[in-house]
Amino acid sequence: MDSKNNDVVNKRSEPDAGVLYVVGTPIGNLGDLSPRARLLLQQVSTIACEDTRHSGKLLKDLGSKASLLSFHRHNTTSRIPKLLALLKEGKSLAIISDAGLPGISDPGEKLVSASQKAGHDVICIPGPCAATTALVVSGLPSERFCFEGFLPLKGNDRHERLSALAEEHRTTIIYESPHRLLKLLKDLIEICGEERPLQVGRELTKRHEENIGPTIGAVQKHFIKTKPIGEFTLVLGGAPKIKQPQSNNSDLLDQMHKLIAEGATASDAARTVSFKTGQSRRFLYLLLHKKSNKVTTI
Ligand code: SAM
Repeated sequence: MDSKNNDVVNKRSEPDAGVLYVVGTPIGNLGDLSPRARLLLQQVSTIACEDTRHSGKLLKDLGSKASLLSFHRHNTTSRIPKLLALLKEGKSLAIISDAGLPGISDPGEKLVSASQKAGHDVICIPGPCAATTALVVSGLPSERFCFEGFLPLKGNDRHERLSALAEEHRTTIIYESPHRLLKLLKDLIEICGEERPLQVGRELTKRHEENIGPTIGAVQKHFIKTKPIGEFTLVLGGAPKIKQPQSNNSDLLDQMHKLIAEGATASDAARTVSFKTGQSRRFLYLLLHKKSNKVTTI
């Protein structure tokens, strides 16, 4: 597509002076770079990228003559004034990340906000994003969903975010690195139970792309046998909403005692039965410990 046709399609010439373009690049398959993104990256005057060597290869293949400036999480604050000065001079500026859509667990957000505050237009040239790619092939409800990105590595913050997931009714998307995947699966089992639906998108858009599911327990079994290698996006099914009133206290206790006899801890048993019945974990835990004055018979 030449720039004349591009103008016709978009009804605005690109790249335009003093505009910041947020450009999506492939998450694996280079064929996913859109013709509009290609043209923009060829013609824009400066490109801010996370890793100039990594993106330099893609830009060289495209024949881009743009100057490259590094922009990553360690120099975000110091770089923004320089990038704003370029926009003010009337240069066109693009931001790209190592892969996918800048601003989604990647630098971008602060530059977009600063550019808008300085009065510059910000235009997105949309492209692939691992989160939405994994979601739409997961088969899990996508009408409403949440994005968690990377969970905190440890401490209270991690515990709080995981606990919130146990109660979340919407499908949730999580990013994780290969060497932390098994730890995350273990934590998810502890907090959500092994029956909770989970689909893991591995190496999406690449040669060894696959989807592994359908529950946290099944995914954990798979990755205990097969070492996690590559890039992973987790799509966690929501917590069930429907209570099953047919389960009375004695049924609930039977279910929990059976799990405990099979080796589950009291807390795991309460969690699993909570997942199956929709009854609150706290209620089940109290029931199990016969704190009957705090438990209303159902
Ligand atoms: N901005 C990117 C996007 O739009 O998806 C995300 C960048 S974030 C730093 C990188 C994480 O995205 C990886 O650790 C992984 O969880 C996920 N990811 C990226 N590429 C992926 C792929 N091809 N398959 C599965 N997950 C991927």
